[in-house]
Amino acid sequence: MNIQTFLKILDILEQNIPQNTPAQNLKNCYKRNPYTILMVTLLSLRSKDEKTALIAKELFNTIQTPQELVKISQEKLENIIKPIGFQKQKAKTLIKVSKLLIEQYNSQVPDDKEKLLSIKGIGEKTANIVLNNAFGINSIAVDTHVHRLTNMWGIVQTNSFDESSKILNKIIPKEYKSKLNFTLVSFGQTICTVKNPKCEICKIKIYCKENNE
Ligand code: SF4
Repeated sequence: MNIQTFLKILDILEQNIPQNTPAQNLKNCYKRNPYTILMVTLLSLRSKDEKTALIAKELFNTIQTPQELVKISQEKLENIIKPIGFQKQKAKTLIKVSKLLIEQYNSQVPDDKEKLLSIKGIGEKTANIVLNNAFGINSIAVDTHVHRLTNMWGIVQTNSFDESSKILNKIIPKEYKSKLNFTLVSFGQTICTVKNPKCEICKIKIYCKENNE
């Protein structure tokens, strides 16, 4: 698939995003500011959006600042995070990143990629999501769905999220960058799923060589 066709299918998919996708529910379940967006993004790593939403709702409708989070003990935070797994690592990361924001960034999340990446625990994907969702800076966040679908359609041929991220951020026009992640994640969670792609109802099947209808 060439890039023009890819942009065309992005438009079609954006106009047909199903309601109540796990990605959408996660976005809507907590009070969002740059800090809570960063925390929820860190929480969501390696966990399903449906489960992350339960924790995000519990924590980040009340907690809005790093000061509020560091008041919670690591043990208590681990217990809250437990249902989504990796609770030890995630609780530790949330506390460490919050402390660092308090000490080095006046409790604010930096809107600069290099600064974000210099914080231990924040990788390429998290930085791009935060820049995009918290500050409106066009930057493509590559997760499992974006990586899988763009490779499947031949837009990139890569083995890692970081590689896909570098290429996509280079070749995709600015106006498509902010919507790409949400559009493809919603599509990958509901229609073009890994185990059971619903090719028969897929709005872009005429463009897809993988169509199994
Ligand atoms: S036609 Fe099938 S494989 Fe291709 S994008 Fe649609 S759901 Fe996925």
